[in-house]
Amino acid sequence: MPLVIAMDGPSGSGKSSVSKGVARALGLRYLDTGAMYRAMTWWMLRQGVPVEDAEAVAARAGEPVIEVGTDPDHPTITVDGTDVSKPIRTREVTNAVSAVSRVPEVRERLVALQRRIIGDGRIVVEGRDIGTVVAPDAPVKVFLTASEEIRAERRAKELAAEPGATLEVTQAEQARRDRLDSTRTASPLLKAADAEEIDSSAMSLEEVIAAVVRLAESATETTAATTTRAEERTQ
Ligand code: C5P
Repeated sequence: MPLVIAMDGPSGSGKSSVSKGVARALGLRYLDTGAMYRAMTWWMLRQGVPVEDAEAVAARAGEPVIEVGTDPDHPTITVDGTDVSKPIRTREVTNAVSAVSRVPEVRERLVALQRRIIGDGRIVVEGRDIGTVVAPDAPVKVFLTASEEIRAERRAKELAAEPGATLEVTQAEQARRDRLDSTRTASPLLKAADAEEIDSSAMSLEEVIAAVVRLAESATETTAATTTRAEERTQ
């Protein structure tokens, strides 16, 4: 089974830093699926599509050409050839993304693209539905959490340059986004039954990376042992 590490969890739980760190440590590729939903949202806003109108979003979901790079040291994302890595992180996009990502036509298109990129594996994939929908056979599944306060602090640091993004405002906006992501009908944020839950509230980044690397190593050893036993039986 190809090595795919599925990394799901709510916003601000540290998925990006952990996923990139694990990919570097193990020499794997890295895919940020949240960036793809953000890129779709950025495009809808620019086109003047009313993002709260699911039908209007669905009608245009096939149009933007989204391309993603998988180097953990230089993740890239473009829409119709334009580099959108910065504009997709603005508060405007962050607050609109859940409305766009709940639309089934958007999810179908992006999940197909994600599966193509995952291909034959050797990749860490972060998102909300990777272990449940995008790669349900992934041999390593992590559900990363952290307390609401810690998650809001992390997000507020990222948004430090945005006017009005105080800790309270960020916490409220984040709680709203998590509520929308967890309660939508189409592939909501959910811990897969076979995912390992890691609460990173009291852990350093290095500790979380080391814990995921251990999970990946033991999954690889198990797969290698099973393959060897199967080969021995056929000899
Ligand atoms: O991970 P990030 O915060 O960048 O994700 C942005 C948004 O994209 C999430 O709030 C969610 O609405 C959507 N998303 C999703 N499924 C994924 C990844 C992200 O619906 N696999």
